[in-house]
Amino acid sequence: MSGTVDTDVLVVGAGPAGCAAATTLARRGLGVVLVDRARFPRDKCCGDGLTTGALRRLELLGLDPGDVASFTSVRALAVRSPHGRIVELPLERGGTSCAAVARRRDLDAALVAVARAAGAVVIEGHELERLAVGRAGRDPACCAGFGDGLLVRSHIVVAADGAWSRVRALREHANSRPSRPGVGGWHAFRAYAAPVARGASEKLWVAFEPELLPGYLWSFPLAGGTANIGIVVRRGDSGSGRVLAAAWRDALAGPFLTSLLGPAAALEAPARSWPIPAGVDGAPLAEPSGRVVYVGDAARAADPFTGEGIAQALETGAAAARAIADAGTGEPELAARRYAAEVRRTLGTEHRMGRALSGLVGSAGGAEGVVRVAGASRWTRRAAGRWLFEDVPRTLPVTPSSWRRETFERPVPYSGAPGALGAREADPARRSGEDRGGLSRG
Ligand SMILES: Cc1cc2nc3c(=O)[nH]c(=O)nc-3n(C[C@H](O)[C@H](O)[C@H](O)COP(=O)(O)OP(=O)(O)OC[C@H]3O[C@@H](n4cnc5c(N)ncnc54)[C@H](O)[C@@H]3O)c2cc1C
Repeated sequence: MSGTVDTDVLVVGAGPAGCAAATTLARRGLGVVLVDRARFPRDKCCGDGLTTGALRRLELLGLDPGDVASFTSVRALAVRSPHGRIVELPLERGGTSCAAVARRRDLDAALVAVARAAGAVVIEGHELERLAVGRAGRDPACCAGFGDGLLVRSHIVVAADGAWSRVRALREHANSRPSRPGVGGWHAFRAYAAPVARGASEKLWVAFEPELLPGYLWSFPLAGGTANIGIVVRRGDSGSGRVLAAAWRDALAGPFLTSLLGPAAALEAPARSWPIPAGVDGAPLAEPSGRVVYVGDAARAADPFTGEGIAQALETGAAAARAIADAGTGEPELAARRYAAEVRRTLGTEHRMGRALSGLVGSAGGAEGVVRVAGASRWTRRAAGRWLFEDVPRTLPVTPSSWRRETFERPVPYSGAPGALGAREADPARRSGEDRGGLSRG
């Protein structure tokens, strides 16, 4: 596609952050163009794990799990301590699962369809190359140049273009700010393995391997005897790419993963690796003019403790859209201030806590202690599962004001809806469809 398109808001990047922003803006009646360099469905290097918090936000957007071919609900997380203690945290309430795994290839394509149905103009296969942001009073202030001669002019640009945000790099260059030394946070390796043994096909697994701390190894089940496996390590501690690759090879050949996956398991394709920028206080959330707003990984919204970022991408994307729609495109500075304040309120404390916890599990003794405390009783196992999977706010331990009945009794996401997670598990036709999809897709 070439030529010039005029719109109220341009959203660059159609991952969870961009789709949440575009869907919310379109539903509020604004003109929105959502551009991605990829064509969907496309893979995204990810663990594919969906917390209760992520599922709640997907439900709010109107996503039907039935539209996500590989969607697999899960009922438990097994956590393994550095000394091999295994604690199982339940992830269900009232018989309904509160967590799921879905290939990003499927999830993101379904989210793009939701954005399109809401009224966003979706343009795939065009990479952002240039961005000019004019002075106050000039409108439309932003002019974005994409490959193939596509120009999009808008009042505001929402940067949802992920960890290596091109928007951020272009704006840092234009504002003569020194480039950041890196994206910070975590770095992760991921692969799909199949056919995996029963233990790996039924539960989520997280193992605090001593050499990866405060990072960890994971194995998340998908239908058809497939598991998404990977390691996540701190970028600062991990050194060069060669050291990281060696850590991945060691984890793959190590006794824990080989025994969990079983003798028949083989990798679908070589592992992919990608950074996870974590910590919203590490980078500006918007330019002071409000013309450029950052969401999701481009805003370093992922959790500094777990490296999980889908819920945070959905949350920041929707929050930016709400602020823009509330203030109107004529008041971008106001929208930017409100958005930044909202994110600091919702994620700021959470990220400070996340960093402290990450410090705690940074040593084998600390990680051992945390797993021991989580597994102390039936009550602690249930509470730890609900807290870790954001069924209750992560800031709950430090915000007594939120200790209200409604905080603890929020409905399980999708319970009772046509695409309910429980219903999906019970539907044999759907499950056999998932099974066909599991191994054959690459
Ligand atoms: C290995 C790994 C495992 C992870 N596991 C989990 C997990 O299990 N659960 C979880 O919640 N989180 C996990 N995360 C984090 C999660 O993947 C991210 O936080 C999340 O994808 C962020 O969403 P986003 O929309 O901000 O960015 P992305 O999902 O990265 O989407 C960015 C989009 O922008 C597009 N784009 C980029 N540059 C341009 C450009 N110049 N022009 C046009 N388009 C562009 C890309 O094609 C892409 O579609 C993991 C991350 C990694 C690396």
